[in-house]
Amino acid sequence: MHDITQSLERGPHPLAQQVLRTDIAGMPLEWIDYREAARLYHTAQVAYACGSLLFRVRGGFNAHTGRRSVIEVSSIIATEGGLLALDRNTASYTPPLNNKTLFRRDANICLYCGNLFRASDLTRDHVTPISQGGRDRWTNVVTACRRCNNHKGGRTPEQAGMQLIAVPFKPSYAEYIFLKGRRVLADQMAYLLAHFPRSSPLHRRLSDQLARGGEWPEPM
Ligand SMILES: [Zn+2]
Repeated sequence: MHDITQSLERGPHPLAQQVLRTDIAGMPLEWIDYREAARLYHTAQVAYACGSLLFRVRGGFNAHTGRRSVIEVSSIIATEGGLLALDRNTASYTPPLNNKTLFRRDANICLYCGNLFRASDLTRDHVTPISQGGRDRWTNVVTACRRCNNHKGGRTPEQAGMQLIAVPFKPSYAEYIFLKGRRVLADQMAYLLAHFPRSSPLHRRLSDQLARGGEWPEPM
């Protein structure tokens, strides 16, 4: 087990900061914690690192040299190994649908009234209701506040005289990784943004946030 003897990260829970793991080609793979990152460094599976230095992890003493190993963990690491992102970074990839990620896709904004809510006050609305043959999938679900969802009931927006303020979309794998991030640092955000489809509705949101030098999600 490694001891963290120094953390360069500012913030209340520095060790909670996730590391972005990519495959050897630099395609985003997943979020990992510092233990997993240290393990990958230790087993020489880290091909190269980008981003900023997050943690300095002290390992065991080398029996031959008597020196103690020090692993410097970056915010983004590219790794060797069989895990390839190729199959996930295709247009046919569909990330699992859950409310947490859905609400983040829509920035916690009700897509009917346009107001911002806490996640606990939001619901998943089926644009075309299930009762009318609508499917439970990314392109047919939107974030809605309870009031709008109740008002809409089992109707389509047209039937209810309501209008969506944005078109629901299926996140790509890179977008999904971004949306799943607990706290995404600016360099990780910029990296993921470069892997988003050109048409991604998240482009503007992230660019604005990066221009403000912010992390994601912004505290509410
Ligand atoms: Zn609403």
